[in-house]
Amino acid sequence: MVDTDPVAAPGLVTCCRALGGLPVGAVLPRHPDRRFLASLEDRGLPRFGRSVEVITLPQRARRVPTPAIAEGVWRPARTENAVNAFVIRHPEATFLVDPGICVDVVDRAVAELPRLLRLAVTPPRDVVDIRQALHLAGIDAADIDFALPTHLHWDHVAGLLDLPGLPAYLHRLEHSWAMDGPVAPQGGVRAAVRNRPVTLYDLDGPPILTFARSHDLFGDRSVILVDLPGHTPGSVGLLVQTSSGPTLLAGDAVWSRIQIDRLRQKASYPGLLADADRDAAWETVHRLYAIRDRLAIIPSHES
Ligand SMILES: [Zn+2]
Repeated sequence: MVDTDPVAAPGLVTCCRALGGLPVGAVLPRHPDRRFLASLEDRGLPRFGRSVEVITLPQRARRVPTPAIAEGVWRPARTENAVNAFVIRHPEATFLVDPGICVDVVDRAVAELPRLLRLAVTPPRDVVDIRQALHLAGIDAADIDFALPTHLHWDHVAGLLDLPGLPAYLHRLEHSWAMDGPVAPQGGVRAAVRNRPVTLYDLDGPPILTFARSHDLFGDRSVILVDLPGHTPGSVGLLVQTSSGPTLLAGDAVWSRIQIDRLRQKASYPGLLADADRDAAWETVHRLYAIRDRLAIIPSHES
């Protein structure tokens, strides 16, 4: 463990709700909010500027029972649960999205998690760390200009521990949630963010598709960050145009596209422990469901 800050732990009631909700949600999934869905206004895709290249860096993949991913979904019986980072090549910069795994990640990051969450998310010892993943993809770590995590959970930033000095672009709201105050939120790894150049941004741009706010990263409409609140307060998605069409890297707004296709929330264990605001996260799933046919949506834990 590298971070000396105390970390928030869920109370007994929350733990019981998470565990007890798993079998309940498996047979009685949360009802979609049809009124909220009907109220969503789709402002359409932006007029993209330049295309970018998105390269997936697989760091771990396993298959887990689908009812442990999405409430009330039993077919297929098992679903991919991966840890992926992404490299985006833009004409002006090459950057890393969600560098989640460092060397010895279990000791350096997972050890900070509450015990009940550790049981669900501890990766195998042979998980691929971010520098190894870059090497396997033929990418020199020295060519990476900055990192841009979709949110500040351990499995999206712990790789930064092995990339000292790499600048990071962070949503100001998310940075405040993870870094302010005497107690780090569960899942946050403050040491990954500290002691590096950080540029904070706000979602200061107009609504796009069904998302309330946006931010044009390069000012050329090639990488547009959109608001995906709920999983964490400042979670964002990256909306880009690739050679295969419009694509949204959706972070942990959903763990699987099954949640979008079937309009289901995350299973309560571990979802209730992982989502900061369960209701806001559920609204975000609706926002993704409403545009599911307009673009490719790639959750970080599926590719
Ligand atoms: Zn997360």
